[in-house]
Amino acid sequence: MSAPVVTRFAPSPTGYLHIGGARTALFNWLFARHTGGRMLLRIEDTDRERSTEAATAAILDGLSWLGLTWDGEPVSQFARADRHREIGEELVRRGKAYRCYASQAELEEMRERARAEGRPPRYDGRWRDRDPSEAPAGVKPVIRIKAPREGETIVHDKVQGEVRFPNKDLDDFIILRSDGNPTYMHAVVVDDHDMGITHIIRGDDHLTNAARQTIIYQAMDWDVPVMAHIPLIHGADGAKLSKRHGALGVEAYRAMGYLPEALRNYLARLGWSHGDDEVMSTDEMIGWFEIEDVNKGAARFDFQKLEALNGMHMRRIPDAELLDILVATLPYIEGGKAIAGKLDDGRRRMLLEAMPGLKERAKTLVELADSAGYLFVERPLELDEKAEKLVGEPPREVLAGAKAALEAITGDWNAATTESAIRAYVAETGLKLGAVAQPLRAALTGRSTSPGVFDVLSVLGREESLGRIADLL
Ligand code: GLU
Repeated sequence: MSAPVVTRFAPSPTGYLHIGGARTALFNWLFARHTGGRMLLRIEDTDRERSTEAATAAILDGLSWLGLTWDGEPVSQFARADRHREIGEELVRRGKAYRCYASQAELEEMRERARAEGRPPRYDGRWRDRDPSEAPAGVKPVIRIKAPREGETIVHDKVQGEVRFPNKDLDDFIILRSDGNPTYMHAVVVDDHDMGITHIIRGDDHLTNAARQTIIYQAMDWDVPVMAHIPLIHGADGAKLSKRHGALGVEAYRAMGYLPEALRNYLARLGWSHGDDEVMSTDEMIGWFEIEDVNKGAARFDFQKLEALNGMHMRRIPDAELLDILVATLPYIEGGKAIAGKLDDGRRRMLLEAMPGLKERAKTLVELADSAGYLFVERPLELDEKAEKLVGEPPREVLAGAKAALEAITGDWNAATTESAIRAYVAETGLKLGAVAQPLRAALTGRSTSPGVFDVLSVLGREESLGRIADLL
């Protein structure tokens, strides 16, 4: 039996959870869940200027909202600097790395020469075989890996296939800086090894790094984890996803009213597929997720598709559960706080009753909250412009007639009884149903659009409904 799978998500804390990072986390999470393994979280906080606690908190918050739970405590890369130094020194002892005393001026000269000869700039290895006794006094050295000079380094990638890097293109890169701090390249390898990572799933912008990291693994005689470099997300125009395409931070997607479940589904489908399935539950995705099914080509972010998918997920969720999700999301969405402030038990009951009609037409929680607005307004209602037009002079007479018809209901007040009362009134007067329903809707909700008017009547109840109509007459 093979060892249990351990994946990791290793974000750099830059202020928010990037939507592309969220998808990387999702793939790691799905694969770990699929295989019964674990997903660890490592915060790559070695850049002390950019890494703040707030930035880390934003990432944890984004992951938690998306439901991407990690196992164990998050690991701080910065806190492991001693261990990175220790391995750097060990590589020197093993003869796999060396101290380099080249000055800035020398390095600059190397770069200049490379430029002049049209070669990519690379360190020429001048301290590779020099005796440490030749070290100039007072110069703090860096430590460089002794990279192989002949042959190739091969990355066996589950998505990209076998990717070959000629070793002549990979120079003796720095693993420890002169101040003793590790480079990103080195820290990642030491951390992944120590954390027992079996599978590295990350963006394909790290593919070249994978070759350099492989060299460090080999120098330490460590097993190279299975690698899977997934294509980046692009915008609709094919360019790498950037601000001009839309929001980059996951928290913005929460504010736009997307469900975590729908976003998980959408992000998974960006680059991965399972037959023709589009709408998938998270359990289904966990059951089906194989790294081998991730495409090589870049995926394009399509907001309309996300919105449509979100609507489909909303309709699949049971009303009570959707209500809980809506309530939890109110603090984050536009206009949500006002609703949250008025959400007493009575209104909660009304909202639940209204849910079937509300979720039928909404594609996001923002739309859902917006069309639920009529439940939270106080009498007398303020009508919007379109609604105002609908209750002009002749409709006022119609409203009076409709009110009388509704008042005549003696038994239960619900969608069916209010509908038959209004239909009887329509038949009696020869009016079209719309000519009655539209002003009624305007009077009841203050808007020209709303869930079905009989649902609205039913949810508001007799007293409130008749009161709202009376206010207008
Ligand atoms: N911290 C890197 C990033 O945010 C990821 C490093 C890795 O996955 O190896 O892009």
